[in-house]
Amino acid sequence: MYAEVLIEYPTKKIDKYFTYLIPPNLRGIVKRGMKVKIPFNTSVINGFVMQVFTEYQSEYELKSIIEVVDPELVLDDELMDLGMYIKEKTLCPLITAYQTMLPSSLKIKNQKTNYNYYKNFLILNKTKEEITNYLQNYHKKNYQTSLLQDLLVQDKVLKNNYANHVIKALKEKDLIKEVKEQEYRINKNSKDDVVKHQLNSEQLNVFQKIKANILNDKAQTFLLEGITGSGKTEVYLNLINETIKMGKTAIMLVPEITLTMQIVDRFYEWFGSKVAIFHSALSNGEKYDEYLKIIRGEVSIVIGTRSAIFTPLKNIGLIIIDECHSETFKQDNMPRYNALDIAIKRSIYHNASLIFGSATPMLEERSRALKGVYEYLRLTKRAGMGSLPHVEIVDMLTEIKKKNFVFSEELTNKISQVLINHEQAIILLNRRGFSTTISCAKCGFTYKCPNCDITLTYHKSTNNLRCHYCGYYKKCEDKCPNCGEDALNYLGMGTEKVEMELQKLFPDARILRMDQDTTTKKGSHEKMIEAFKNQKYDILLGTQMISKGLDFPNVTLVGILNADNSLNIPDFRSNEKTFALLYQASGRAGRGNLQGNVIIQTFNPDNFVLKCVQNNDFEKFYENEMNMRRILKYPPYYYLVSLKIIGDDYQQTLENATKICDYLKANIDKTSIILGPTTANIFKLNNKYRFQIVIKYRFDAQLMATLNYLDSIYVNDSKINLEIDINPLHI
Ligand code: ADP
Ligand code: ZN
Repeated sequence: MYAEVLIEYPTKKIDKYFTYLIPPNLRGIVKRGMKVKIPFNTSVINGFVMQVFTEYQSEYELKSIIEVVDPELVLDDELMDLGMYIKEKTLCPLITAYQTMLPSSLKIKNQKTNYNYYKNFLILNKTKEEITNYLQNYHKKNYQTSLLQDLLVQDKVLKNNYANHVIKALKEKDLIKEVKEQEYRINKNSKDDVVKHQLNSEQLNVFQKIKANILNDKAQTFLLEGITGSGKTEVYLNLINETIKMGKTAIMLVPEITLTMQIVDRFYEWFGSKVAIFHSALSNGEKYDEYLKIIRGEVSIVIGTRSAIFTPLKNIGLIIIDECHSETFKQDNMPRYNALDIAIKRSIYHNASLIFGSATPMLEERSRALKGVYEYLRLTKRAGMGSLPHVEIVDMLTEIKKKNFVFSEELTNKISQVLINHEQAIILLNRRGFSTTISCAKCGFTYKCPNCDITLTYHKSTNNLRCHYCGYYKKCEDKCPNCGEDALNYLGMGTEKVEMELQKLFPDARILRMDQDTTTKKGSHEKMIEAFKNQKYDILLGTQMISKGLDFPNVTLVGILNADNSLNIPDFRSNEKTFALLYQASGRAGRGNLQGNVIIQTFNPDNFVLKCVQNNDFEKFYENEMNMRRILKYPPYYYLVSLKIIGDDYQQTLENATKICDYLKANIDKTSIILGPTTANIFKLNNKYRFQIVIKYRFDAQLMATLNYLDSIYVNDSKINLEIDINPLHI
């Protein structure tokens, strides 16, 4: 018996296949899709079994597979084929696709430690009747009888909770015995008294349409566009409930699980141990356990972030991508896949229903829904008691004349009111750190990262300047390092500074700051959200991480500082992103019975995007933005490919970029548009120069072959790195 193995180079990401002998002890065990250990040159590495065959002619003596990494971790045929599809669509090495599906965090790092985690339990060694009889004749009351009493009620108890001499005595009498059971690290039980809302008529309509589709085993994608608070989660819960009643399984993707823990808890309440979760913040042991639950068929629902789309569930009936507009569903490094595409592919394979849910779907999804590629379903009303918040736009230019640099008069008044009423407020500023930059008023000097083409951000708590891209940091000086003058100015503001200002204005307010700097510890997100929910704080201040998915009934005010931040990013999607961010953030206000208020502070009060947020007018925003995209030839009218040419040497990198560009011009369809080479958005990153070429195309039969060729040329180039991103979300 022989196996063709796709090997995992420890350093290089390229596809290489070798044939190995399957030794007698592994025959019948080694299967397609398994991870195996193989000898390679002088070391031992991992590989994926692509094929097993009985006949093979070789001039050389073949080496043997050493062992199977874990017989339970196998990619089935669906996932093996899906890997090929990803390779073809995103031009990645096949090995990176399989590594994503079966991440190395799942492998047993050290053979000596057993990843499975066992607990010792005690159970009865006689029938309950026999034990009851025994107790009646025993007449005494002691530790032994109390253990037996416990076992009459509970079936099994944890050994650790009882004294050894008691256990020993009962064992000698043959009344109990010890069993070992695998204990999963995450154990949740459903709640008996869970609140299940009666669906309203809009929700019911959506529910029934999709339920019928699941029953009919039809692969169909639905775009569920529901305003914030319209009760999408409630619809998902009910649909998943139906799915598992039909004996099928379901996957739900969320953008970032730590931020959506509130939603995940709802799923635990309904479905308890039928749910597995999968995301990067789990420990390796937790991941391994959750994966085992799935492989063993012990769960029927998987909730997770992007890569959870690859979970090896069988018989999938429903896939949900919640907040489908989120950029986190597209992977930024290899394999550059989009979970939405993978979901479509899997839904076709399983004849499953697929829901893309969002209050602000991307233009691509919305236009596909309007064209009938997806079925378009809407929820237009808030489900609970809350009504949509009142949104006000404040012109900061006028405020600055009044010396209100951070908080406008209006926002200050509203915050005081919230504090008086014992309600809560959320303040959003999409920039962490203290000030954006430090600059010298005398000579104009600014601190720049030596490795990247980026200004450094000042962090007050650590009194240093940091690069948010490569992690470089340095101590901050008192005087300008260029001209020596005592003229350094702190420009722009981050969450750290706003926190200080806020505390100055409202000394008694309890303020909670949530950003990347305050949430590095595992579980800190959940703790903060829980504390805010329990009204341990009055004001939650944070970056975009607080804008999504949170449901706090007591929040009546949302303040958005410097709404211009994201409008000014040079990206064709910046309007769309700003709209989504502000709209989602506004949606956090007034979710309970209380009227919500939103205040948007900006230097562009007449900006079209802000007006649309104010009027809650997605239609108008969509129409306008579609028009822009059509004129400027951007998605959804054109498809994009971005090529980044990256290297250590400026001249050499530019030359290669030019060569690539010329090759593209000569080989792809004449109707496609090639832009560049230009310097990339961030020209220098980690000491490497970056150039970019953008292709816009509608139909191009030659394109993929051309890109494939270029990729194959550069894959082994040690000096120049070519990154090809097909359908990038930003360029
Ligand atoms: P979305 O996910 O669309 O933003 P949620 O599912 O979080 O909305 O629902 C918003 C709020 O409305 C939640 O507090 C939820 O419990 C409540 N809710 C949902 N459906 C109903 C319903 N049919 N009746 C009453 N309240 C509901
Ligand atoms: Zn840097």
